[in-house]
Amino acid sequence: MTGVVAAGPSVVTLQGVGKRYANGTLAVQGVEMAIGQGDFVSLLGPSGCGKSTVLRMVAGLIAPTTGRIEMAGDTRGAASALRATGDVGFVFQEPTLMPWSNALKNVMLPLRLAGMSRGEAADRAAAALASVGLAGFEKSYPRALSGGMKMRVSIARALVTKPRLLLMDEPFAALDEITRHRLNNDLLTLWQDERFTAIFVTHSVFESVYLSRRIVVMAARPGRVVEDIEVNAAYPRGEVFRTSAEYAAHCRQVSEALHRAMGE
Ligand code: ADP
Repeated sequence: MTGVVAAGPSVVTLQGVGKRYANGTLAVQGVEMAIGQGDFVSLLGPSGCGKSTVLRMVAGLIAPTTGRIEMAGDTRGAASALRATGDVGFVFQEPTLMPWSNALKNVMLPLRLAGMSRGEAADRAAAALASVGLAGFEKSYPRALSGGMKMRVSIARALVTKPRLLLMDEPFAALDEITRHRLNNDLLTLWQDERFTAIFVTHSVFESVYLSRRIVVMAARPGRVVEDIEVNAAYPRGEVFRTSAEYAAHCRQVSEALHRAMGE
């Protein structure tokens, strides 16, 4: 199915969204999606099915070639306007930190760009670092931090402006499994505490089931939405959930949907 309806008021709505890149590649076509306020939605699919393209369009980093993307409260329908006000946070697969600045200064950057005073930005950045478990690492430079810690700094930088919408593009793909599990847990805690809406791109069935309330399964050639699956399991989720029969059953269901999406 392609018509996906959010349970609560939607924060982002995509209607008939398509993207053809300048080289002629039709990356996605006919995407219909409504993301509910406070939801945690994963976009799951094989490489090349257009997950990143959809995320970058929602972020306003690139424009759709067909259809419309609307953000609640933004009558111009331009996510880029919200991004400019710090209402949208983006976490990339690479932490993309400035190597010449310490952790605190990296996290202060969006606040300083928005014109906040140095003192206030430093206080808020320190609080954001503490919220991702990095209190005491304010003065550390990226080269002195592990991959997981660098990703934590990147998440702190995305959350420091208190965005309504947090967009994540395979943020934990490069991390080892234990670190990835820890960051999954910490991300869910932050999501519950700060109540942002999350859109999370992944190609991992296990990660999508663990984190999400909804999984939008995409297929390739052309990229499109093929299934919308609810993961009806209570939060907070922890290691008990990760090893439960309930988790395994959801993983099986989503895995089967992914195989169907891949035409297997
Ligand atoms: P995914 O995130 O699911 O791996 P992408 O959104 O990155 O998929 O890519 C979808 C399709 O669009 C792929 O065929 C990819 O090669 C193509 N694509 C992505 N970015 C560009 C670009 N800047 N120019 C041309 N084609 C692109």
